[in-house]
Amino acid sequence: MIERQAIFIRGIVQGVGFRPFVYRLARELNLKGWVANNFEGVQIEVEGEGAIIQEFSLKLKAKKPLHSEIYEQYSRPLPLQGDREFIVKKSEDGGTIPTAILPDLATCQECLSEILNPSDRRYLYPFTNCTLCGPRFSIIEALPYDRKNTTLRIFPMCSKCEREYEDPSNRRFHAQPNACPDCGPHLELFNTNRELLSSHNAALKGAAQAVLEGKILALKGIGGFQLIVDATQVSAVQLLRQRKHRPAKPLAVMYPDLQSIHQACHVSEMEEALLLSGECPIVILEKRMHRLPGVAPDNPNLGVMLPYSPLHHLLLGLIKRPIVATSGNLSEEPICIENDDAFSRLGRIANFFLVHNRSIVRPIDDSVVRVMDNKAVIFRRARGYAPAPIRLKNRVPSTLAVGGHLKNTVSIAHGNNVIMSQHIGDLENRPSFRSFERAIDDLSKFYQIVPFVIAHDLHPHYKSTQWAEARTGSKIPVQHHLAHFFSCMAEYQNDKPALGVTWDGSGYGFDGKIWGGEFFHWNGRETPKHFATFRSFPLPGGTLAIKEPRRAAIGLLYELMGPSIFDQNNSLWKDFTAEEKRNFAICLEKKINAPQCTSVGRLFDVVAGLLGICPISEFEGQAAQSLEFLAIGSSQQSSYSYCINQKEEMHIIDWSEMIHSLLNDQTQGVSPTEIAGRFHNTLALIIVSIAKIVNEKRVFLSGGVFQNKLLLEKSTSLLRNSGFEVFTHEKIPPNDGGISLGQVYYNVCCMQPNQGPNQEV
Ligand code: ZN
Ligand code: ZN
Ligand code: FE
Repeated sequence: MIERQAIFIRGIVQGVGFRPFVYRLARELNLKGWVANNFEGVQIEVEGEGAIIQEFSLKLKAKKPLHSEIYEQYSRPLPLQGDREFIVKKSEDGGTIPTAILPDLATCQECLSEILNPSDRRYLYPFTNCTLCGPRFSIIEALPYDRKNTTLRIFPMCSKCEREYEDPSNRRFHAQPNACPDCGPHLELFNTNRELLSSHNAALKGAAQAVLEGKILALKGIGGFQLIVDATQVSAVQLLRQRKHRPAKPLAVMYPDLQSIHQACHVSEMEEALLLSGECPIVILEKRMHRLPGVAPDNPNLGVMLPYSPLHHLLLGLIKRPIVATSGNLSEEPICIENDDAFSRLGRIANFFLVHNRSIVRPIDDSVVRVMDNKAVIFRRARGYAPAPIRLKNRVPSTLAVGGHLKNTVSIAHGNNVIMSQHIGDLENRPSFRSFERAIDDLSKFYQIVPFVIAHDLHPHYKSTQWAEARTGSKIPVQHHLAHFFSCMAEYQNDKPALGVTWDGSGYGFDGKIWGGEFFHWNGRETPKHFATFRSFPLPGGTLAIKEPRRAAIGLLYELMGPSIFDQNNSLWKDFTAEEKRNFAICLEKKINAPQCTSVGRLFDVVAGLLGICPISEFEGQAAQSLEFLAIGSSQQSSYSYCINQKEEMHIIDWSEMIHSLLNDQTQGVSPTEIAGRFHNTLALIIVSIAKIVNEKRVFLSGGVFQNKLLLEKSTSLLRNSGFEVFTHEKIPPNDGGISLGQVYYNVCCMQPNQGPNQEV
């Protein structure tokens, strides 16, 4: 029997080739009617045999385009209209809020084969894309997502491109950044004096030649500039490190193909899928051999990625070697996106600049992922992932959450969606802060949101807190570690009672101390109870002690043994002058600039400091990383003892026995590897001990400390063996990159108006 049905689809279905897919499917099944975009997604009307419509409906879900996502699909019957064909109708436009802005996607196989095919009109064209791939978020200036609202608007399409763009059966139907050599952007190669050396394909060849000669190339990529050198030339890598003031921090490597990655690293099935995905992140892999000296020194792992734009494919096709591809920025500033800015900021680093005239609207770094506990855990959520929405079960009041201070992201919640910005960086410097303001502006403009509340961290000195405080309207301060806990629960939409284990480097506690070894018990409704923490110790020198693990070690020893440590002949003292030692004594005895901390991140620093493996760290988490790498080599099953003291409602984990036995191990000549192993085992056992006291089935692990694969896997397996259900991060970074989402979800779960605000813990 002939029927007609209206089908409504909500989800990520715009800008991903969904309408051409519907068009092809309907024609295949000989159904009549139309498809159009509407403000919530896609609307379809089909007419034909009832059974065929049924089949069509099922295939919509089953065969949907790769990067699309269907949140909801429903249909209703309509009277017959007797259409003669199936068409793509013009979309209703204007005043509509989109369901999603899409992330930038890596070059698809079809586009890749075109640029490698000498008889194709896009042969060697670096700006090739289609509805299944190419730039999106990096080129959008306004919504709706239409060519006139992207940076491609200055390139009128030639007639051939125009035809592709208008043809619903074509892969480039409404591909907004569609371009070809005749009508699109092109490349130019400059030297540091801003002299134009060559353009188009010659520029590409010149750039490849320069890299092969050991020069540093600044390359304008998808979300910003990258600094590139030949990873196989030690001197080139060292030169880049010197000029970037980055002596030891691991650099990411882009390999020409998957096969060469397999030769260099161990790659699991899951890791391979990540490397080949449309998101195309940097994947942290275990090295097979140490072939690229200087790229990731003293590190068993390597951050690896594949080419993700035609430009990268073509460049690597000429270089045919792995290249270091690191962010084109100065220290922790955002990456450069404009040609002028790159010339001035990167002028002292790069020898050559390979640029083009397709503007980048906002900086978007490469994303970073590490597989842990059989999950792809995102450490840095940027290109490929942001700003894809995170779905919530319930609708939430419009909220802006401004995140933390380091690895900042901001989030906007509207309806059932939370839109988390791309990784912005540390808000230490002006350019980062401008990026932060830009991201807030972007998201509120795109989603037309005037936030009902602003959620922020408690730390009075965070730039994000100060920004929030300067706004009018209602605000919700969210304690840093509660935000971590709730960021993890947000991933699972958990609204049931749970234990939160939040371990990180530092966050501002309710008592003004530096926290970072916290356990919270949540009953599923009210503000969680602060259940347990670590015994605190001072950090002499404050922020200086965060950068120098040896200082954290001195602080803890002072807490443990008092002033007697100044008379001991400890190897810790060997790098300090007598005057510095006197300053330590004053600072610790008088409690001046020696804030107390309960942080596990700092406890890692202490152990690294005591073992002398990382007296001063170059980057956040370096000491913890060094300890993890050491411990991987340990066969230790044993642990150190610790005790848990109850003080009123609070449980305090005392590390004194652990440190005493650790020092004893050291004097006995036990290797740092074995000590590091025992230390990891101890931490995992501490989690299980507290979990058993709380006796709550669900346990959530969050905070930067859980980027430690060894600790995460030990803890989860011990917890599971004891009958707990363990939840860890996957799509949201365990580090401070997840704080803004946690602030939103905390607001959703604990601060709903009918429950009244209650900030006591
Ligand atoms: Zn494509
Ligand atoms: Zn064209
Ligand atoms: Fe944190």
